[in-house]
Amino acid sequence: MARKKKTVKKVGPAGKYGARYGRKTRENIKAVLKEKGAKHPCPKCGKKSLKRDLAGVWKCRSCGTRFTGGAYKPETSMGQLARRAVLSQTPMIKEEEA
Ligand SMILES: [Zn+2]
Repeated sequence: MARKKKTVKKVGPAGKYGARYGRKTRENIKAVLKEKGAKHPCPKCGKKSLKRDLAGVWKCRSCGTRFTGGAYKPETSMGQLARRAVLSQTPMIKEEEA
């Protein structure tokens, strides 16, 4: 085999941590980093072209929509909870979800 920088499927994006921090910790961070790097469906146009712009900021590559969400995924369960609380306090605003 040629000498080449190895990328191992098993460790995925957590490979940058090498042998450090323990297996379980790296497994956990792998799940988070995968969400962070993956393309998600856009809430506006529905296309799977939502990418993380900055921590907590998500941008659709297709329609250009930019909005805030979770640091590592577009929507967190805590975010949903907060929105529900806000909506229940403001009866004028209707939720625009399908
Ligand atoms: Zn979009």
